[in-house]
Amino acid sequence: MADVIDSFGSNGICAVCKRNPVNRWCDYVVDYSNPLTFFRDYKDFIEANRGDKYETCDLPICDKCATNVGKDRDLCPHHMGLHGKAQLPDEYQRQRQGRERAKIYTAERP
Ligand SMILES: [Zn+2]
Ligand SMILES: [Zn+2]
Repeated sequence: MADVIDSFGSNGICAVCKRNPVNRWCDYVVDYSNPLTFFRDYKDFIEANRGDKYETCDLPICDKCATNVGKDRDLCPHHMGLHGKAQLPDEYQRQRQGRERAKIYTAERP
C-alpha cells in the first residue's frame, strides 16, 4: 500500500500521538458487511466487488503508535486493546474450536 501511503504527503500526522508522520493504517476489521461499490463500467464493478470484503478501521497512525500483529497487519492502540481479548476463554470449550477448524478446512478442500 506504499503508493497510497505516499498520498498522505508530509501533512499526514498520526491520529493518536498527533506528532509523528503517518506511515500505516489500522487493519482491525470493524465490519463484515459487504457493501457493493458502484461504477459506470461493468468490468470495474465486478473487479471492485470480487471476493470477501471486510471494512477495516483505517485510522492513520505512525510506527510508534502501531502494534504489528502479523505480516502487514498493524493495529491502533484502541483496537490493540480489543485484539488482546480476541481469544476465546476456556469455558467456550476452545478444544472444540480446533476440531471444527480441521473439519471446515477438510470440507473446503476440493
Ligand atoms: Zn503516533
Ligand atoms: Zn483501529
